[in-house]
Amino acid sequence: MGDHLMNGPQEFAGLAAIVTGGASGIGLATATLLAERGARVACLDLKPDVVEPLTGFQADVGDDDSVRGAVGRAAELLGGIDILINNAGIGAQGTIEDNDDEEWRRVFEINVFGIVRVTRAVLPHLRHSARTRPGKAAIVNTCSIAATAGLPNRALYSSTKGAVLSLTRASAADLVHAGIRVNCVNPGTVDTPWVGRLLAAASDPAAERRALEARQPTGRLVTAEEVAAAIAYLASPLAGATTGIDLAVDGGMSGLRIRPR
Ligand code: NAD
Repeated sequence: MGDHLMNGPQEFAGLAAIVTGGASGIGLATATLLAERGARVACLDLKPDVVEPLTGFQADVGDDDSVRGAVGRAAELLGGIDILINNAGIGAQGTIEDNDDEEWRRVFEINVFGIVRVTRAVLPHLRHSARTRPGKAAIVNTCSIAATAGLPNRALYSSTKGAVLSLTRASAADLVHAGIRVNCVNPGTVDTPWVGRLLAAASDPAAERRALEARQPTGRLVTAEEVAAAIAYLASPLAGATTGIDLAVDGGMSGLRIRPR
């Protein structure tokens, strides 16, 4: 049996990808899957301790110089960039009255402007990919069901993800004629270190976990690998006719009109 069949689908063979927030959770699962399917992958992260075949680059998506430096070094190592996964993000709890102006700016700086500055830095490489390897250039943003769901106690976080959703659609329109597709995924509650930290802070972590699970029609949390599979699909040439969409990976939370058990 040839390598191709032994290794499974290799739709990213010969392509290079950047994954922000690629050292943990959804980003790490995505970087790992893209690499398994043939991509050369650079993870840009605050703490980029990843193992081969992934390569880590220290970067703060909240800082212009840091992003430009890391993207330049990653593009040199990878020999270009065909795929950008804008996944780095931070959480925030509270109502509109709970977070002060500084906190609003800080979270928007990472979750929204982070995507803007990384995308700006990577776009020249994606345009080159689109000219020289038509049909391969793609951006996938990690959004959230919080963008549209009206979740309680998440005013700031939800607002940032609403902006990510709009930015995804607007950028898809702006880049479609350049041959660059832009889509996003809307995960529900995903079992990552992020949710681990939320549970650890709860007075009864086990009860809190059961409550989160019960909120999902499927009765369990989404796995990082399930979100990674959706991101990989949208990033792959298999999704060549798909741009400007948000794909829910949320255990049925947004699509179903049934009562959680
Ligand atoms: P995680 O905390 O496990 O991983 C996030 C990674 O991003 C970390 O490695 C962290 O170091 C990195 N990061 C944070 N700030 C950064 C910065 N300024 N510059 C560079 N890297 C930075 O979290 P996760 O659950 O995998 O979340 C990833 C994305 O998924 C986020 O955008 C989040 O909003 C989104 N999301 C998560 C869930 C969930 O339930 N876990 C649900 C919906 C959406």
